[in-house]
Amino acid sequence: MRLTIISTPIGFLGSGKGGGVELTLNSLVSGLLKQNHSINIVAPNNSKLSESCSSAKLFTVEGHEQNSWQHQDYYTKTKISGGSIVNIMLEKALSLMKDCDAIINLAYDLQPICKTLEVDYPILHLISMGDESLEIRNIISKVYSSYPFNFAFHSKAQAADYPFIKEPIILGNGFELSRYTFQEKKDGPLAWVGRVAPEKGLEDAAYVASEIGEKLNVWGFIEDKDYASSIIESYPSGHICWKGYLQTNELQEQLGKCRALINTPKWNEAYGNVVVEAMACGVPVVAYKRGGPGEIIQHGKTGFLVKADDKESLLFYLKKISNINRSKCREWVENNASSDIFAQKVVSWLKRVIKEYK
Ligand code: UDP
Repeated sequence: MRLTIISTPIGFLGSGKGGGVELTLNSLVSGLLKQNHSINIVAPNNSKLSESCSSAKLFTVEGHEQNSWQHQDYYTKTKISGGSIVNIMLEKALSLMKDCDAIINLAYDLQPICKTLEVDYPILHLISMGDESLEIRNIISKVYSSYPFNFAFHSKAQAADYPFIKEPIILGNGFELSRYTFQEKKDGPLAWVGRVAPEKGLEDAAYVASEIGEKLNVWGFIEDKDYASSIIESYPSGHICWKGYLQTNELQEQLGKCRALINTPKWNEAYGNVVVEAMACGVPVVAYKRGGPGEIIQHGKTGFLVKADDKESLLFYLKKISNINRSKCREWVENNASSDIFAQKVVSWLKRVIKEYK
């Protein structure tokens, strides 16, 4: 197939601002290329792809940056501006359509979803977040009633945020396993990885690390500086070791040395890439049972799941983390979330949708 993928409008690929979508795009493209599909990617200026995507065609465009939906009021009404980056990416993708079989949209945004109703070729939407905007929920609902197969989700818990979707297509996510090295060592430090923003709940991980009397290593893009400062101020200096935002090869190398990843989402986490990345390195995860992590971690086998927001349970199970056999974590990723498995699921989805248009 010849496919065009629209990237997230939140930040360029490689910036960290786009969160998990950046990695999802790279592993999806890498998996599709291995199956000999031909891929165009439309993304904001300065975007860079991972090495394994070098035979894809990258088209970068310039436009007005926008705020992430989850940091705006749920009831916000958008003023659609022609200069917005998502509009410009969409126009570019549409201009490539004459040589393409389908567009896969990874942008959680109105315009690409609306466009599905206006054109007679397939635009498929892999929705990257739960219900974070009434406007987006309404447009998904409207388009879904005519094009029920054009939407897919990462986890059942995420799809449940859209109850009008009757039999959601769940794709999970994919990871290029050759980029992650399994590390056996069990006695390393504690890790937390993610965008530093309130929906990620870093404060709860800082609390359990402090109760256990250890520092917490934090990797990720600091999206909300005030939020980060408020956590720093709550603990003695040095309690949080800021490791910065690293590219995958460095991140996985450092993360793999850790004894556990603490994952504390405060929102309905659509998937939770960092959970699987830790597991790919052999690092077990203690997480809130909220959203995707609840479907990824096998309690007692690859980590522990605790009631959301229950910090004392988090602490209790963190102390038991050495009971987990690290090779089981890697094994789960190999069997469930490689980029090949993910690409295969996406191809089946594409075929089903393309058939509807013939
Ligand atoms: N990440 C990274 N370097 C870092 C920290 C995080 O590349 O130093 C990436 C990580 O690989 C993951 C993404 O940030 O793909 C976070 O995605 P996740 O699905 O966990 O959460 P989101 O940000 O999408 O809500």
